[in-house]
Amino acid sequence: MTDNSLAALFSRVDELRPRMMETWAKLVNRDCGSRNKAGVDGVGSDVRAFLEACGYRVSFREYEKAGNMLIAEKGDMTKPFVVLLGHLDTVFADGEAARRPFTIGESGLTVSGPGALDMKGGVTIMLYAAKILSEVGWDRYPVKIILAGDEEVGHCQSGAADAMAEEADGALMGFNFETSYEDNALVVGRKGAAQFRLDVKGVGAHAGNNPRDGRNAVSELCRKEPLISALTDWDEGTSINFGVIHGGTVANAIPENAYAVVDVRYKKMAGYRRVKKALQEIADRVIVEGTKTTLRQTISFAAMERNEKSDELFARVNAIAVEAGLPEMHPIEVGGASDSAYLVLAGVPTVCALGVKGRFNHTVREYAVIDSLFEREKLILAVLSKI
Ligand SMILES: [Zn+2]
Repeated sequence: MTDNSLAALFSRVDELRPRMMETWAKLVNRDCGSRNKAGVDGVGSDVRAFLEACGYRVSFREYEKAGNMLIAEKGDMTKPFVVLLGHLDTVFADGEAARRPFTIGESGLTVSGPGALDMKGGVTIMLYAAKILSEVGWDRYPVKIILAGDEEVGHCQSGAADAMAEEADGALMGFNFETSYEDNALVVGRKGAAQFRLDVKGVGAHAGNNPRDGRNAVSELCRKEPLISALTDWDEGTSINFGVIHGGTVANAIPENAYAVVDVRYKKMAGYRRVKKALQEIADRVIVEGTKTTLRQTISFAAMERNEKSDELFARVNAIAVEAGLPEMHPIEVGGASDSAYLVLAGVPTVCALGVKGRFNHTVREYAVIDSLFEREKLILAVLSKI
């Protein structure tokens, strides 16, 4: 195949439909939850073999406690390159693939199975873009494919977030094949997410015999709660959820221990920095004398800040889609985080949610629309051919 006109690329997608479905099924029918390093690394080695057959140089950023991150490159990487981004892990526990394998729905229009939507469909699109473009000898830009192994847990046990920003440094543009939407939206902004745990140490005492010797850890947390919840700033796009509180053992003892977990969502990194600083101040401030509070961040997922460069990239992608006869798209901002944030932090114009369309990701009701696999394959081929 040497004809690289759009019509030829599109008909190649149509020819490859059965094989694309096979690859999608194979990727789904394999347990690779974020906590299952062996499972994620197993998928990584299948993907490696596929990409090597397309002429990519494949390596891994290896992690002890998390799935490895695959890096595949083609072309002269000293030149401005394109990043195709995704992840190999799912949110599902081991056994889910056997219990609920890749299945085409009764309507024949949708598929289900662990990660069918988030994001094995997207990974399939990435793989076949590599394959079809290599068949036609496309070399418009060097390409770097990045597939994280622990996206669904926010890279909490690896350095993958920083590594991704490093890998993306110098890229011209980024495309993330995350879960998409049935209304054909593309994502240009996402909130960041963080969680903080506050542990309060008080002094235990008997509520009847020596109550004045006690230092009530639960009281300390309860008095901190209004200060923490007040950090919400809707105009800034930052919200706080004082989501978990635990403390005390029995009612007739002054509680020695208590803890709370606070979830923070933010649109702007500045909002995150403001809240983080304020939380430390509130933790350090002693309200019930004799208690001590320690603050620890447990989850950190950067915001994909919406900016002009990403909006501009969206506009170009949409114009190419329409010209190629594909459905028109619209840009949205969503609450859920993704690795696109790290591309944007690296200064790379990025659009997200180029993967398959569907609903209910992260649940057993998750489904993906089959036709969107082929439509979105054509979309990325058109974009890379024309942009
Ligand atoms: Zn995902």
